[in-house]
Amino acid sequence: MKTTLKTNITVKDICEGFVYNELEGKGLFGLSGKLTIQPEYQRNYIYSSDGGKREMAVIESLLKDYPIGLIYFNKVSENNLEVLDGQQRITSVGRFVTDKFAIKDENGMQYFGGMAKDKKAKILETKLLIYECEGTESQIKEWFKTINIAGVPLVPQELLNAIYSGPFVTLGKEEFSNSQNANIQKWSAYIKGSASRQAFFERALDWVSKGNIYDYMSLHRYDKNINELKKYFNSVIDWISSVFIDVESEMCGLEWGRLYEEYHKKAYNPAKVSAEVRKLYADPYIKNRKGIFEYILGGSVDTKLLEVRIFNEATKKAVYKEQTTKAEKKKISNCPLCAIGHDANKEKIWSLSDMDADHVAAWSKGGKTAAKNCQMLCKTHNRAKGNR
Ligand SMILES: [Zn+2]
Repeated sequence: MKTTLKTNITVKDICEGFVYNELEGKGLFGLSGKLTIQPEYQRNYIYSSDGGKREMAVIESLLKDYPIGLIYFNKVSENNLEVLDGQQRITSVGRFVTDKFAIKDENGMQYFGGMAKDKKAKILETKLLIYECEGTESQIKEWFKTINIAGVPLVPQELLNAIYSGPFVTLGKEEFSNSQNANIQKWSAYIKGSASRQAFFERALDWVSKGNIYDYMSLHRYDKNINELKKYFNSVIDWISSVFIDVESEMCGLEWGRLYEEYHKKAYNPAKVSAEVRKLYADPYIKNRKGIFEYILGGSVDTKLLEVRIFNEATKKAVYKEQTTKAEKKKISNCPLCAIGHDANKEKIWSLSDMDADHVAAWSKGGKTAAKNCQMLCKTHNRAKGNR
């Protein structure tokens, strides 16, 4: 990729022929029509949000001779440039000189049109630091991926949309990034994030590609349809909502793509599943409610997913003391499983730090996390007994 630093392009040059599209919220053209300010892969103008603080700051910087940073253009052809980075700043300047907003100065709110001549000239004559980049589309886009855009950073999916822009991304955004889509409410029960920040598009791609979003987007970049993507996404959503008929807030953001792959071929009875979900939600020993869904899908055996509450320190100490006193009298190990064994540990008195608490009656079989149901085992035996 070839880059050329331009230091003599002024604000006046850039703003020649500036058009701001109020309807779409985009700055469109500049440099007498040579410059496209918002190519397809750029975001809409956001500097006018938050009461316009950011666009005002751009103008104040020009008036105070503060640098507004490097701007990058992509040289598409001799008479055709696109803004790669700097779109928000250029749009701020263009909007200001066309009187779209005012700044505050010692005389109150000032529009460009009403400013003193010298101040106007100062703004218009400011020279910008611009890199013109020439290269293949893939070089430019690879590089665009690595630059950090000022202000609100692009989220990864927004970057990917930029890198792989084309018919597939356009269709994907229409389906998954459209806040008018009536399905969004249903999707929001299972997927975190907002449509406009590409959360649903990203999840759909993640699921269908089994985590290889880059490869998938690159492979399908020029597709004229998103059939496979839509079909897979809807299969996952339909599967979740048919297995789990109740919607719980902890379902949002789970790894549904992986769970679908692992479990969608198994049969479930939704009424039974629902009853089990409710039973587990009512169980005060379960620390991790997010784990309930995978626990049930896997046949209700892997209690590690639930992080069942363990005995507190005071309980462990009390049980240890009682167990150890008895064991010392009988001259047997204070680990009941060592005591009935036949090896050298038969009479060993373990220290508290070498032991772990165990549910005598397993939690999964109704055993409570109370002192009565607690026994201390040496670490080896506790591990061997497993997390029942
Ligand atoms: Zn033991």
